[in-house]
Amino acid sequence: MPIRALVARENSVDFEQLSDEDLPQSGVLIDVAYSSLNYKDGLAVTRKGKIVRKFPMVLGIDLAGTVVASDSDAFKPGDRVLGTGQGLGELAPGGYTQRQRARADALVPVPEGLTLEQAMQLGTAGLTAMLSVMTLERNHVLPDEREVVVTGAAGGVGSLAVMLLARRGYRVAASTGRPQLEDYLRGLGATSIVRREELASPGAPMQSERWAGGVDTVGGQTLANVFAQTAYGGAVACCGMAGGHELNVTVWPLILRNVSLLGVSSLRTPKATRIEAWSRLASDIDADKLAQLSRVEPLSRIFELSEEILAGNIRGRVAIDVNG
Ligand code: NDP
Repeated sequence: MPIRALVARENSVDFEQLSDEDLPQSGVLIDVAYSSLNYKDGLAVTRKGKIVRKFPMVLGIDLAGTVVASDSDAFKPGDRVLGTGQGLGELAPGGYTQRQRARADALVPVPEGLTLEQAMQLGTAGLTAMLSVMTLERNHVLPDEREVVVTGAAGGVGSLAVMLLARRGYRVAASTGRPQLEDYLRGLGATSIVRREELASPGAPMQSERWAGGVDTVGGQTLANVFAQTAYGGAVACCGMAGGHELNVTVWPLILRNVSLLGVSSLRTPKATRIEAWSRLASDIDADKLAQLSRVEPLSRIFELSEEILAGNIRGRVAIDVNG
């Protein structure tokens, strides 16, 4: 049976018909049901970012589906599996395809209670949001009167971070450049809304203590301001750069306020941590809110969706139906 897949070659990205022989010859064979749309996918599909490291490459950094055959004891036919990052769509063929073979190490079981569709409504963004929450918890930023700020709040990682933090009992300030989405963000559990411009202009290296902590998906001046406004003993989980990759800060918040600036990367997360994070996602999500913040789109729309995510116009999450 031919397999429709989105393939990047040196100078093009297009749909191609593949056969089983075009897939990697070892690993876990999966009937893919859903992938998802992440900022990085947008960069890869439009070729605006150097994401792919080997050509030809099936794009899509996420996938979820059912095992057809496996050369690993970790999985058997019929198991529901998901993969996020771990080189998928960059170094190893990814999820924008109806079938794929992936390394067993790159996969984890879909936890009980999550459908394949929900798994990809979460996808890399959900894993990253959960790793950010776990990072704050490990650094003793716990639910309290003082708010935790989430930047880029109406985006994928941002929306999920707002939902997960609110669900855990945190008071959450949602920073957004789309004030028209205030009701949406409050619906996910945000206690207040901060306008993007407020955090985007140059500010002093130490400012009034405002946040217990932060989840930053924006980077640049926004992260510098969040860091400068974090209260004594707080921590900022830095996971994105939708607004810029530079960081101009001083050591003062670190050494005068004991503030921690912590990196979060979902790309190479060890398997045990991925399993822990996915189990937390399955128990912590609010299914109704997850449905509100996500939609499912057919893979046939991937080119326009990729332009939209890079333009900052996607609200929440998009799961991709690879058969659509
Ligand atoms: P989205 O496009 O869904 O979200 C990004 C959000 O950032 C937008 O919705 C918008 O939020 C805000 N934003 C966009 N452009 C700007 C800008 N110029 N200045 C300020 N804010 C801006 O992307 P994702 O959620 O998929 O990814 C967000 C970031 O996190 C990306 O940089 C991505 O590469 C990174 N990422 C990192 C991961 C990791 O492992 N560390 C994993 C996944 C993503 P609003 O409209 O509310 O202002």
